[in-house]
Amino acid sequence: HGTLTVSELADKLNKDASEIIKKLMFLGVMATKNQDLDDDSIELICAEFDVEVEKEIILEDTDLDKYISEDKPEDLVERPAVVTIMGHVDHGKTTLLDSIRHTKVTAGEAGGITQHIGAYQVENDGKKITFLDTPGHAAFTSMRSRGAQVTDVAILVVAADDGVMPQTVEAINHAKAAEVPIIVAVNKMDKEAANPNRVMQELTEYELVPEDWGGDTIFVNLSAIKGEGIDELLEMIVLVSEVEELKANPNNNAFGTVIDAQLDKGRGSVATLLVQNGTLHVGDSIVVGNTHGRVRAMVNDVGQRVTEAGPSTPVEITGLNEVPEAGDQFLVFKDEKKARQIGEARQQKKIQESRSEQTKVSLDDLFEQI
Ligand code: GDP
Ligand code: MG
Repeated sequence: HGTLTVSELADKLNKDASEIIKKLMFLGVMATKNQDLDDDSIELICAEFDVEVEKEIILEDTDLDKYISEDKPEDLVERPAVVTIMGHVDHGKTTLLDSIRHTKVTAGEAGGITQHIGAYQVENDGKKITFLDTPGHAAFTSMRSRGAQVTDVAILVVAADDGVMPQTVEAINHAKAAEVPIIVAVNKMDKEAANPNRVMQELTEYELVPEDWGGDTIFVNLSAIKGEGIDELLEMIVLVSEVEELKANPNNNAFGTVIDAQLDKGRGSVATLLVQNGTLHVGDSIVVGNTHGRVRAMVNDVGQRVTEAGPSTPVEITGLNEVPEAGDQFLVFKDEKKARQIGEARQQKKIQESRSEQTKVSLDDLFEQI
């Protein structure tokens, strides 16, 4: 549970330090107020007083946010934008993601197009951009870290022959609620029935007004299937991210969010992580959601083995004791023992929670029967 001194524990238990010292004496331990207590002693003392209180301590000390060290402004450097593609079904989200990837990822890179880790990075005019390859809505609803969004820029895909549809509106609402800037990609411009003016007209109702009409929303016309307009879209993403002044400290312990994870027959737990701050290294001790371990190997988005991954970089790792969940937060600890303690406590807490959840359900069932 991390370390606590006698007086810190006394505070948490709402007791006097002398009472703790007395209990310790009975347990055969001579202690002073400022002495660090090991886990066993903390557990024993908690048991002496009240079990409920013990749970509270575990809860508090397993919160990963508490272990994130703040960055000094002078340590912050520019980082790539993390982009999510949203829009109504069949308006071309997947085709656009593929098209960007094919035009920008050179086939010569190891693994090339076949590798698929749930996110990828492209370079445009020397500026990197990270695309999340997950359904846009999921990226917004489940992927939050430290209360902040994983996504920096949302691309709203609207088919020029279909216009604004229910999921278009839903996507706008998600992005607005998250205060993420929206770039509108008017897709399927190659189609006979394409009517980009109608799309612009319809979107003004949602306060997405093009610059030509006095608004401040960027619209890009494109054909994902023909690969037309992709370069302009990438330029606009870079433009918007420059305005956002996206920054991170590459020299801190890495933290970020799980994009995707599964159990692999040969490699065990495999997780795709998006590093949001710091740099992740092979060998790092890490807590990922309710799992933990040491980063055994890392593979980048084009299938190459790498030893480190900086801010806004997606990377696939192995070495965790269990499979985490998409949307889980991760944090690297300098101290391997600390990572293990917190990882185990979080795992324990999850087991406790699912147990009490089960009890609740069966109680509810019972009442229903009565
Ligand atoms: P998603 O549901 O938003 O991911 O849409 P998809 O990318 O799966 O595309 C839906 C359909 O629209 C597919 O049949 C695509 O081939 C087609 N499509 C996507 N982009 C374009 C485009 O730019 N032009 C045309 N003509 N068809 C497109
Ligand atoms: Mg799709």
